[in-house]
Amino acid sequence: MPKKSPTAALPVLTRRRFLERLGAVGGSSLIMTAMTSLDLMAGQAGVRPALTGRPGGAKVLVIGAGVSGLVVGYELGKLGYDFRILEARDRVGGLAWTVRRSSEHTEINGERQVCAFDEGLSVNVGPWRIPYTHTGVLNYCKELGVPLQIFVNESDASYFYYEGNAAGSLSSTRVRLRELKADMIGHTNELLVKAIDQRQLDLPLTAEDTQRFVSFLVAQGYLDSSDHRYKAFTNRGPGDPYDFSALLRSGFGNRMRSIPARDGTAAAPMFHPIGGMDQFPKGFQRAIGPNRIVFNAETQSVHQNDAGVKVVYLDTKSGRKTEVNADYVVVCMPLSVLAGVDINLSPEMMEAVRATTYSNSAKMGLAMKRRFWEEDDQIFGGHLYSNLPLGEFSYPSNDYFSRKGVLLGLYANVAVGNLLDQPVKARVEHVLMHASKVHPQIRQEFESAYAVWWRRVRYSQGGYASGATTARRAQLSKVENRIILGSAATAPSSEPDWQEGAVSAGWQALTSLHERAMRA
Ligand SMILES: Cc1cc2nc3c(=O)[nH]c(=O)nc-3n(C[C@H](O)[C@H](O)[C@H](O)COP(=O)(O)OP(=O)(O)OC[C@H]3O[C@@H](n4cnc5c(N)ncnc54)[C@H](O)[C@@H]3O)c2cc1C
Repeated sequence: MPKKSPTAALPVLTRRRFLERLGAVGGSSLIMTAMTSLDLMAGQAGVRPALTGRPGGAKVLVIGAGVSGLVVGYELGKLGYDFRILEARDRVGGLAWTVRRSSEHTEINGERQVCAFDEGLSVNVGPWRIPYTHTGVLNYCKELGVPLQIFVNESDASYFYYEGNAAGSLSSTRVRLRELKADMIGHTNELLVKAIDQRQLDLPLTAEDTQRFVSFLVAQGYLDSSDHRYKAFTNRGPGDPYDFSALLRSGFGNRMRSIPARDGTAAAPMFHPIGGMDQFPKGFQRAIGPNRIVFNAETQSVHQNDAGVKVVYLDTKSGRKTEVNADYVVVCMPLSVLAGVDINLSPEMMEAVRATTYSNSAKMGLAMKRRFWEEDDQIFGGHLYSNLPLGEFSYPSNDYFSRKGVLLGLYANVAVGNLLDQPVKARVEHVLMHASKVHPQIRQEFESAYAVWWRRVRYSQGGYASGATTARRAQLSKVENRIILGSAATAPSSEPDWQEGAVSAGWQALTSLHERAMRA
């Protein structure tokens, strides 16, 4: 049993309780002032828990040094807990993996790859972008000194390229997003002005406001100010506008947005750490210190009783098994992996663990001898908009104007045909063959590739957890005596597919653990 500390009898002062007390004294406006001035306004992950008190001598093991486990470890360290993180790999970050020269992995029942990119080149094969609303992650970056740069999520120079009949006469034609925006808005404005001039629109406007409306449509810059026609113009780029009905038929316009989203994959602005997404977990690693994380420690069993928890892990380098004891264990490994671990949780909990599904995510980085997309096409970041079987194909938002670069040749979260069952070489050929329809230079400039299909990656066995139902999330967040689950799949905010979800899951597990430990 853990020893009781002098503070053990005190109730835990959570940030919420602190703010409630403040409110009791000064009313809700005082709460708002305190929240804004302390920079505590909730982001997507909610509000970071402000916990106080220290249970004397309580020993905690955290399993997994992905973002969720690192959040738990970092915050436990601040509270003064005695903790260790057991990590099966030889690095922190889990899915937050930046592949660079000499990175390697062997697929489950498959091939070994060793990255042959030049020094200085890299690709984020897991998370790669952070929406500005993900303040849980962004505030940690600030606190940990992880420098960020803009992630270009939309570039007007990007191409649309749709194959097949669906896109009509614009099938297999490269159309720039800039051209699409200009032509769609230009044609629309011309039609509107024409209809107004011919009194075909029954507008709920006065005559003066109708004239102001026409002036607004012209002042947007698409229409000729004398005849109110939409014609070729400089900002659109060279060439005549595409035919309006051909554009409507193409379906390209469905992907056009004038105001970027606040959240999700279409958010803007977005950020990414300079030097790769792994700089984020490495920031935690630095702050946690050198002796708290045990690498190459594959947890094999977790057994609890009323007195404590016994964990057995395999040192994957020496092959030796080690038994460690703790008062509490926070399990931050993916549930896909946990399902195969010998752990004494309740049948209800194990059912929820097994019911959680993970995305079939894959990414492929393609190192290029020359940044032809910049030099030949003036594309700086952003994505290709296509219906090619590549998922997302993207251009790097870093190291502009350098000689070489890494394209994201494929990013999918569902199966792409039967690629998963093919040798890596065939997967690379698939990507090069399709990408060369848009960028014919790609074969000549291709140097090497690195492919990660997360289902086939040990210690992940899948991509991100798909959002679970509220009932399942409630089950997963229950404290079962001395064991608490904390990976992104347990996120209370239902955003397990983002690092922000891993942060909120970590905070939830930390709060539950602390309340449990303070009660002991
Ligand atoms: C392709 C892809 C793209 C994504 N894009 C984005 C994005 O752009 N932005 C964003 O914010 N999020 C993105 N995400 C989601 C984000 O990566 C996850 O939500 C988050 O990283 C999950 O963190 P975690 O700590 O829960 O899990 P993990 O990162 O999986 O960490 C679990 C840790 O447990 C360890 N472990 C496993 N088994 C054992 C064992 N037996 N013993 C000890 N340790 C073990 C693992 O090695 C790992 O370090 C993406 C995910 C994928 C797959």
